[in-house]
Amino acid sequence: MTQGPLSAKLFAAAQQVIPGGVNSPVRAFRNVGGEPFFVRRAKGCRIWDVDDREMIDYVGTWGPAILGHAPRVVIEAIHNAAKDGVSFGIPNPYEVEMARTICEWVPSIEKVRLVSSGTEATMSAVRLARGFTGRDRIVKFDGCYHGHVDSLLVAAGSGALTHGQPDSAGIPKAFAELTSILPFNDVEALEKLFAERGHEIAALIVEPYPANAGLILPQPGFLKKLREITAKHGAVLIFDEVMTGFRLAKGGVQELEGIMPDLTCLGKVIGGGLPVGAFGGRAEIMDMLAPNGPVYQAGTLSGNPVAMAAGLSQLRELEKQNGYALLEHLGQTMEKAVLDTLKKKGLGYQWYRRGSMFCLFFTETPVKNLADAKTSDLPAFRKFFHACLDNGVYFAPSQFETGFISMAHEQADLDRTAEVVAAALAGL
Ligand SMILES: *Cc1c(COP(=O)(O)O)cnc(C)c1O
Repeated sequence: MTQGPLSAKLFAAAQQVIPGGVNSPVRAFRNVGGEPFFVRRAKGCRIWDVDDREMIDYVGTWGPAILGHAPRVVIEAIHNAAKDGVSFGIPNPYEVEMARTICEWVPSIEKVRLVSSGTEATMSAVRLARGFTGRDRIVKFDGCYHGHVDSLLVAAGSGALTHGQPDSAGIPKAFAELTSILPFNDVEALEKLFAERGHEIAALIVEPYPANAGLILPQPGFLKKLREITAKHGAVLIFDEVMTGFRLAKGGVQELEGIMPDLTCLGKVIGGGLPVGAFGGRAEIMDMLAPNGPVYQAGTLSGNPVAMAAGLSQLRELEKQNGYALLEHLGQTMEKAVLDTLKKKGLGYQWYRRGSMFCLFFTETPVKNLADAKTSDLPAFRKFFHACLDNGVYFAPSQFETGFISMAHEQADLDRTAEVVAAALAGL
């Protein structure tokens, strides 16, 4: 059962005044059946719904809660900043410190602009790439999700993948026609497109580890190939690290894989749970932005002091606690338990993990792209999801999402999770 009586009451009320009762589609649980629960409180790795059911959480507010929920340092930073005012609309010291931290941590970023969501970051990066190159065409990969930007909501992952239509209504055909879609990990298709249309391509945008269609990893050399081919054709390479930035390493996937994109989009972890996004990269490109250059971009709440303080405190705590090493350790612990269980039960399901990000695909087909991910046994996933939830373990309510471990997950939580997962898999 996904919903207690108080959640049911709230959901009924919500549906009267909010489309579908939710403010982001994947929250509606349509992919798994049942109806969403409403959360009253979250702390550490746990959430409690309004009916007082306790769950170990592996969604982590879809990525941002890398320290766990409501970490003391972040809550204190929010209090302290808010005491001095919650928004000025004039530059404040926190923005400078945040920008400096980003430029220091992320190898390819020389200059950065702060915005309020991942969607704003990708939308602005695409506009900037078009302004910089004087070209219109954008290339993206099947199943990658870059927020709900018109030109990027074509063959998109996450909620857009499962909302019942291939893409979105309301996007002019003329916009969609300017977006070329490629299968991930397919060098031949990539070369063919660039050979035919390279001179038209403003930017190639990619989640370097696609994490919105489950978790898919690049084949060796694939990201390098993206770097080479975009450089050769004068197209801007955009790494969308909204999910992976500050989640896997201080410098994101680009640090792990040794690739320097031209532009990088950030979000999620950077805001410590408050609405923050950022995009940055080569100074030569970034200086095309207003007020220096001709590409317009703005935001009333951009660089908001409370959001900056929250994000900065989270990043500092990660550094102080040597967070990435701990998260890798926790990830390995979970991985071992899951792989042992799969082996014991003779299940050939595909498991992928990097650091604290993981996905179990309910398919025996190795997953290299979206088409492979779609071979997953969705009814089996649904059954698994509900069995876990009924026993107090909350995974994302869709096969096509990534799970997140936080620094607040302790050995006992992982042990309990392993038991619940083993029982759920046994019950399939
Ligand atoms: C979540 C996400 C976005 C969109 O960010 P929002 O803050 O939801 O607008 C963009 N790209 C990637 C890779 C994401 O995971």
